[in-house]
Order: sequence, then C-alpha cells, then structure tokens
Amino acid sequence: MSTGSSNSLHVLIVEDSDEDALLLKRHLEAAGYRVNLECVQTPVALIAALRRKHWDIVFSDFSMPQFDGLEALKIVRDHDRDLPFLVVSGTIGEERAVQLMKFGAQDYVLKNNIRRLVPAVERELKEMRLRREHRLAQEHIQRLAYYDSLTQLPNRHRLLEDLQQRLDRAVPSALMIINLINFREVNGAIGYGKGDELIREAAGRLHDVHLRDADLYHLYGNEFALVLRTEDRDHVESVAQNVLKLLGAHYVSAGFHIHIGARIGIVLASTKEAGLLLQRADLAATLAKREGKGYAWYEAERDPSSPQHLALLADLHDAIRTDQLFLVFQPKVECRTGAVTGSEALLRWRHPQHGLIMPEVFIEMAEQSGFIDELTRHVIEHTLRQITAWRQSGIALPAAINLSAKNLLNPQLMGELLAAAVRTGRGIEIEITETALMREPERAMAALHQLYEAGIRIYIDDFGTGFSSLGYLKKLPIHAIKIDKSFMVDLVRNTDSEAIVRSTIGLAHNLGLKTVAEGVEDRQIWERLAKYQCDEAQGSFFAQPLTAAQFEKAITAWPRGGFPGAGSVFQLPTRLTDHKPPR
Ligand code: C2E
Ligand code: CA
Ligand code: CA
Repeated sequence: MSTGSSNSLHVLIVEDSDEDALLLKRHLEAAGYRVNLECVQTPVALIAALRRKHWDIVFSDFSMPQFDGLEALKIVRDHDRDLPFLVVSGTIGEERAVQLMKFGAQDYVLKNNIRRLVPAVERELKEMRLRREHRLAQEHIQRLAYYDSLTQLPNRHRLLEDLQQRLDRAVPSALMIINLINFREVNGAIGYGKGDELIREAAGRLHDVHLRDADLYHLYGNEFALVLRTEDRDHVESVAQNVLKLLGAHYVSAGFHIHIGARIGIVLASTKEAGLLLQRADLAATLAKREGKGYAWYEAERDPSSPQHLALLADLHDAIRTDQLFLVFQPKVECRTGAVTGSEALLRWRHPQHGLIMPEVFIEMAEQSGFIDELTRHVIEHTLRQITAWRQSGIALPAAINLSAKNLLNPQLMGELLAAAVRTGRGIEIEITETALMREPERAMAALHQLYEAGIRIYIDDFGTGFSSLGYLKKLPIHAIKIDKSFMVDLVRNTDSEAIVRSTIGLAHNLGLKTVAEGVEDRQIWERLAKYQCDEAQGSFFAQPLTAAQFEKAITAWPRGGFPGAGSVFQLPTRLTDHKPPR
C-alpha cells in the first residue's frame, strides 16, 4: 500500500542515539512520508511531549541509560490507548518482547532488519484508524443503550445497573422517581415538539438541584429519577421539596405560560434488588398522585406484594371484632357565619403493635381485599350510634360518612344505609369521589338515586382531582361538591388554583350545588373562600378530626357568633392526625 508523498507523519522517538533517530527518519522519508520528528530521552520529556501535541506513532528503543522501553510504553498507554507503539532496538530477547506486547506494544523491529519498519508503520497506522472507529462505534452504541437521546441523561438501563452496584456494595442510597404531571394535556395543547422542549427544560432544572450529592436519570417521557447518596430522611425530603419548587415554576413556551407540577415517590435502599426498588419508588409516586401530595414515601403496608401488607390485612379482619377501629369527627363550618353545620366521620385504627394507623394505609387494602363493605357497615353503625348520643346531649348535627366505589354496588349495604338514615332523621350524609362513580357509572347512578330520593345529602369528594366536568355533575343526583384540599395549599399564592376554586364555586352555584372546601389550614384561605362565596369549609384551621368526646366539647364551646379565628380553643391536646402510620 502506498501512503503517498502528501502524508505527513508526526513521530515521537524515545531514543538516546541521534544517529539512530536520523536513520529511522530517512527510511520513512524514502517511503514518501513528510516526517516531523522529535526525540526524547527521559520520562519527563516523554510526558511533556505527549501532552504538547498529537502524535501518529511512537518508536522506542528498548534500553537506554535513563529509561527503558517498558516504562515508556506504560507512559504512552496511560496517555492514549490507541497510539501505535513500536519498539525499535538493536537487540531484544524473546521474553522481553512478549512482555512488551502484553503491555500493549504493537510490534518490534530490530535495527539490523530495518526493512520491516515501513510496512510495520503502515500496518499500525491503518489498525489504529480501525481501532478508533471501532471505539467510537462502541461509544455510540453505549450511548444509545445507556443514554436518553432527548436529554442526553443516563437512562433506565443505566439506572438499574448503577443501582444494583450500589445495593451490592451496601452504599447508603435513596431513590426518587419524579413524574411531571399534566404533561399529556400540555403535549396535546402545544404539540410534541414543544413538549420535548419542556422536558429538556425540566431536565436542566433538575440538573441544577442535584449534582453534588445525587445522580440524575431520564427514564422516559415525563419520568426522571434521582439517586441520592444518603439515607437521611430529612435530607431526602428537603431535596424533594427543592425539586418540587424548581419544577413547579412556570415554563414559557410559544408565548404561553405553562404550569407543570411534579409528583415524587421515594424509597430508601430497602431491598437488594434494583428492579424491585424501582417498583417500590413507582408505587410511592402513585401514592403521591392518589393523595394529591407532592411527594410520598414507599410504605410496605401499602404495597400489595409485601409481607407487611399481608400481615396487616390479616390483622384488619380482627380489628372490627376486637374493637380496634374508631371514628373521629371533623367539623364543617359555614363560611358566612362561622357556625358548625355538620361533620365528617373518619376512620382510625388503633393497632395493638403498630399504634395509630391512618385510613390511607388500610382503606385501600380493604377495598382490594373485598373487606370494605364490612368496614363501611361498621362505620354506618357507629355513626348512627354517635349521632343518636349527641342528640341526647342536645347536639343535632349531621355526620357524613365516606363511601367506596364497591359499597354503592352492594344493595344489602345500601339498604342498611337507608335504614340508618331514616332512623337518624337524615342525620347521616355521604361523601363519594367522582372516580368511584366512574367505575360502573350506571349501577352507581342507580344506587345514588335511591339514596337521593330517601333524602340523604350527597357530597362529591375530592372534586377537581378526577376528570369529570361540572357539566357531568349536572346529571348526578347530588347536593354539594367538596373542592379537593390540594387546591387550598397555594390558593393565596398560585393564580391557577385561585382560578380553579373561584370558577368551581361559581359554576356549582349555577347548577344549584353547594360547595365545601376541604383542607383549610389558615385564616387567609378561609377569608379568601368567604370572598368567593364558598358555602362551607373544613380543615385544621378550625379543628383537626376529633374523637367523639372532643367533638362534643368543641361544639359546646363553639362561640355563638361563629368561629372566632385563632382556633386555639379547638387545637385539642390529642392531635390524632399528627400520628404517622408505621413503616
Ligand atoms: P377525605 O375524605 O378527603 O378526608 C379528608 C382528609 O383530610 C382526612 O384525612 C382529614 O384528616 C384530612 N384533613 C383534615 N383537615 C385537613 C387540613 O387542614 N389539611 C390537610 N392537608 N388535611 C386535612 P384522613 O382522615 O387521613 O382520611 C384520608 C382519606 O381516607 C379520606 O380522605 C377518605 O378518602 C378515606 N377515609 C377515611 N375514613 C374513611 C371511611 O370510613 N371509609 C372510607 N371508604 N374511606 C375513608
Ligand atoms: Ca371525605
Ligand atoms: Ca376529600
């Protein structure tokens, strides 16, 4: 193969004899190379030369006074894995030659057989090119396999491998799955190209939070993951809050201000298997979504595949019989007057080992296992008994119970509910979510009509979190809607929430429905709701859910002129809602 006279060749020679160096140069020039050559004799000079410029090939003598070929080879290999390295030497033993090849020398040429030099150089230059191309192709494949092409962030494969390594080495870790929400709607509204831009922007914002103590991954579409090098729950939560804040700020695209929220699921390194850990983080993200929270921790009790869940489910069956379940009541307050108009009955479970367990842990479990009808029957009976007892103490207030989707489809249970409503003179009301109604709309509707006709007040719970429009609600036999608590948190600061709450109240009134705001935590929110003419409000600003005895006390002490505001009287010592479920 001819290399052509235009080929210039940058040659670095490790050699103590200038004469030998010149000899090599002449051979190469005779073969048509324009040789640019530099000779070095010490390790320091070699390193400096390698750093200074690009070389095509290195020739090295084997033994020199201050240096030997093997050392030179190591230096060159540290610098560049592909740079051809030829040993050109007067003598070299077989054993040493093998050693050199093992450390990555390409070939050796004896000075007394210098005819081999040019063919060896040509071959090595060609092979180097192939090696480089191969390496680039490999890197490209790696990138495709391990990186997301939209954001250039490491992907799900890479997360699983990295995570597995950490788990194998027992490195303290927390995994966070971050879902951007409303994303499908945004994509639909502004187009996929613009949607991609938003994803990239979100990735950029995440990049800003994490780098120092976490690794960021883009799993797909609207889903990211962070792996934190810590197991400190407070620290992890503060990172989660930071992420929510950064992602929650407005995006500007095509001249629009766009609001994209996020939901985060978090899990600590609670298993040795990366895939399972990822599943748990996903589950936690689903819990966050279901509860309208920014972030949620993985809870084994709520993971249908965990042994804790099964054990708890078994305990739940005993809980009714052994009287571990009880009800707490949270007042509903009329916005116009500040007077209490009723209450919501909420279930609690005092578990003999785990202590107080909140309904978010066990209701869903009961729904999935078919136990929910029995639980609701228990709630109906106790609410009925409580309403009757309060009546005797001169408190005539209704109490609303929460129904699950399945309850509506059980005619016997509905019959019992109707009977209880009759016995309490309509003291029992019901709350049901719009999503529960959507599961089997026709049968649910039939049951609802029956309750409505019997005069039971019906509230649509968590309004705004599902998909139904107020227009759809018009067709339902209901009395009121409860605007979900997730809109209250930032009612005063966020114009989106404000607009939603305000228009919901207005439209509901137009349809002849009352409105109740839930999750009212401070005076500012309450005043804002009053301004929008919301009918009723419920939340910790007035009172936490109270035991029956606490409730009675609070009602008796409730100011005649309505709720005074500061609420100190009603922040009773046992703040049941402060208890955390067991993990
Ligand atoms: P929900 O029906 O939306 O009930 C309101 C929840 O908000 C209650 O949580 C209540 O304690 C909480 N809450 C009250 N005030 C505030 C506040 O100011 N701020 C915030 N952030 N939250 C407040 P809880 O008691 O943990 O109940 C959770 C959910 O469990 C309920 O949500 C309901 O869906 C379900 N649930 C509770 N009891 C029953 C029941 O007897 N049967 C059924 N089927 N579900 C129940
Ligand atoms: Ca409710
Ligand atoms: Ca609710």
